[in-house]
Amino acid sequence: MTTQPTAAVIGAGFGGLALACRLQQAGFATTLIEGRDKLGGRAYVYEMDGFTFDAGPTVVTDPSALEELFENAGKKLSDYVELIEVDPLYRLHWEDGYSFDYNKESDRLEEQIAAKNPKDVDGYRRFYKYSEAVFKEGYLKLGAVPFLNFWSMVQAAPQLASLQAFRSVYGRVADFIEDEQLRQAFSFHTLLVGGDPHKTSSIYALIHALERKWGVWFPRGGTGALVRGMGQLFEDMGGKVILGDPVQNISVAGERVRTVTTQSGIAQDFDAVASNADVVHTYEKLLGQTPRGQGMARSLKGKRFSNSLFVAYFGVKKQYPDIAHHSILFGPRYRELIAEIFKGPDLPDDFSLYLHRPTATDPALAPDGCDGFYVLSPVPNLDKAKIDWATKGPEYRDKIFDYLDQRYLPGLKENIVTHHHFTPADFKTELNAHAGSAFSLEPVLTQSAFFRLHNRDDRLGNLYFVGAGTHPGAGIPGVVGSAKATAGLMLEDFGLAAPAIAAE
Ligand SMILES: Cc1cc2nc3c(=O)[nH]c(=O)nc-3n(C[C@H](O)[C@H](O)[C@H](O)COP(=O)(O)OP(=O)(O)OC[C@H]3O[C@@H](n4cnc5c(N)ncnc54)[C@H](O)[C@@H]3O)c2cc1C
Repeated sequence: MTTQPTAAVIGAGFGGLALACRLQQAGFATTLIEGRDKLGGRAYVYEMDGFTFDAGPTVVTDPSALEELFENAGKKLSDYVELIEVDPLYRLHWEDGYSFDYNKESDRLEEQIAAKNPKDVDGYRRFYKYSEAVFKEGYLKLGAVPFLNFWSMVQAAPQLASLQAFRSVYGRVADFIEDEQLRQAFSFHTLLVGGDPHKTSSIYALIHALERKWGVWFPRGGTGALVRGMGQLFEDMGGKVILGDPVQNISVAGERVRTVTTQSGIAQDFDAVASNADVVHTYEKLLGQTPRGQGMARSLKGKRFSNSLFVAYFGVKKQYPDIAHHSILFGPRYRELIAEIFKGPDLPDDFSLYLHRPTATDPALAPDGCDGFYVLSPVPNLDKAKIDWATKGPEYRDKIFDYLDQRYLPGLKENIVTHHHFTPADFKTELNAHAGSAFSLEPVLTQSAFFRLHNRDDRLGNLYFVGAGTHPGAGIPGVVGSAKATAGLMLEDFGLAAPAIAAE
């Protein structure tokens, strides 16, 4: 190809941003088109009454994947954003008063395990070894490799079988660890990427080794600062950003996509189009005029979509120094609650919560003497439970505030100065998320790797996907890995690089 190829990336979540950076750096004239008024997607930012609230991801893992993006462009991540290590990684609390500091160092972890159930120290060590083996196989080897055909899956099958990938994370943890609260401590992580620990493939046990190896980080200024850094990197390389203008249509000619049309009426031809938008939305709405769009939308709708989330952001004119940056507040039930969240048909009465207190790491995110928080409750998606969130949302928020006030944040209710909440209905309307799912396709084995949406459409040769709905899946490391896999294919297709290391 003699002239510079052009690419559109639709959607500026972490996956879209990472892909746009890689493409622009490699020689595509890249346009990033985002429907909302800011970059970030699920990592949106609310500025309210002097508080800065990150809307979504707050646990930043595998900083090396982010560093690689900047290094590719001859820059350093640290020139754009400062990452601060968070310790403990999480503080876990149960209603009986037991709490556990989940940290990176073996001694501190093992000390706490010994205090809880001495027999589990040896089991934990064996679990950690297992987690490291899965991490090497599932993340380091296959995390950023596109699975385009069935053969790729067959090739990976022996390793997956020997690691018992067909078992669940909870099932594998329970093979090694006896104490129920410790089992929960080492299995809840799949909930952070939209998976039920009792159903999600034990490949996801790799998260433990990943967090032990690289720790948990938080950008100074919040996750939004990392998003802005990536946006800046893209623009510094000459990339073009269009904000607040949702794409409405992608035209198809033969077996190629061609023109991208936005709501404001921009209609531009591209050599390649990559969608970071929801996978059902992309096929059903943006390609809905084509048989391919209709067929794929139908087929995707038949798959299992992950749960949704209810998130309440609140600023308090008081500080809670004993609350860690990341807290998990387990409710009275674990297995049963999660099963109800994933199956519906109602909103469970009880909940387990994730509480975010970013001011523990960066006090500048709130006015002096104040704390900023968000609290997140996993809830059924819109297909699983028919809930009128316009009515239920404020009630549910108040119920959670009551619970926090009584158990963890005394005086909360009389000190809240600002708040906002986001429901499954908002995931659908604001982010075009199918069924209001927070994490796209559920990460079960039958919807992973080759069985997940491919990073390139099987028929439309220049249509690509990036983000949570593609391989490897949700979470910042997942979608940044998907950008690497998708960029590899695009560069190869356009003769801009050596063939990608595809698992074919
Ligand atoms: C509340 C919450 C907390 C989370 N916490 C963590 C965490 O701590 N750590 C972690 O690693 N992961 C976390 N996750 C998961 C992680 O945030 C997501 O998996 C990841 O950010 C998704 O990135 P993505 O690239 O798939 O794009 P998304 O963030 O889904 O962005 C897609 C973008 O496409 C845009 N779009 C949609 N339709 C169109 C259109 N027609 N035209 C133009 N643009 C369009 C949307 O507006 C959006 O900006 C969390 C998720 C949520 C919701």
